[in-house]
Amino acid sequence: MNLEQLELTIGWLYPTLMSTYGDRGNAISLQKRAQWRGIGVKIIPLDQQTSCEQIHQADIFVGGGAQDRQQEIVMRDLRGAKADALRAKIEEGTPGVFTCGAPQLLGHYYEPALGQRIEGLGLLDFVSKHPGPDARRCIGNVVFELTASPLAQDLEAMLGTKPIVIGFENHGGRTFLGKVQALGKVLKGYGNNGEDGTEGAFYRNAIATYSHGPLLPKNPFLADWLIQTALQQKYQTPVSLTSLDDTLAQQARLAMFKRLDLSNLSLA
Ligand code: GLN
Repeated sequence: MNLEQLELTIGWLYPTLMSTYGDRGNAISLQKRAQWRGIGVKIIPLDQQTSCEQIHQADIFVGGGAQDRQQEIVMRDLRGAKADALRAKIEEGTPGVFTCGAPQLLGHYYEPALGQRIEGLGLLDFVSKHPGPDARRCIGNVVFELTASPLAQDLEAMLGTKPIVIGFENHGGRTFLGKVQALGKVLKGYGNNGEDGTEGAFYRNAIATYSHGPLLPKNPFLADWLIQTALQQKYQTPVSLTSLDDTLAQQARLAMFKRLDLSNLSLA
């Protein structure tokens, strides 16, 4: 299919409330990587003014990190028909990247540092708890190997090497997975809770992660996987993306692997 005939709508969840940690870079990365290939792109904010109809228009979701207070405001808004619309979209396979505060809202609940438990959408089988304002935050570079199936296998076939993700985490909340599969296995950093070696979660085509960075410019193969999956889902036909020059991203990844003493990892 000719890429120039295709269009992609990126639904950006609560951009003013959930953009504390630079995750806007994920929306920009998706937008640019699609545009560079001639694909038409629209970014629509999904926030308090949004109707369920607009949630249904999104071909990819981007949700960023936020502070506990903002997460509470979002969750008061994301209830009823709106929550049902988002749930239905994710269930039917609409891809998305949900970072830190955003995935905490997709699970069963988030217990903030102070105050009441915030009920989540209950879509991903995990819970998140902040141990309190005096607890150490999980901050720093994080590196993990993607293990979620079939994402890891698809990417390994595409890259010819195991997909390694680099990011930066900054969270107080700790996430404990139920039956949902982890996104990856931590090589450096804390990941979901600093204890069990898991990082993030993967459900249908939704990527949930603690990795800011932002994630997609540092790991362009994930951006391309999201774009390709979204287009295939929308047009119901196989789509292959033309390759882009990612030399700068590769150099940045190499420098980070070196700094973190992980030079033995491949460059994908
Ligand atoms: N408020 C959440 C926490 O501290 C999310 C933080 C974030 O999105 N980086 O865990």
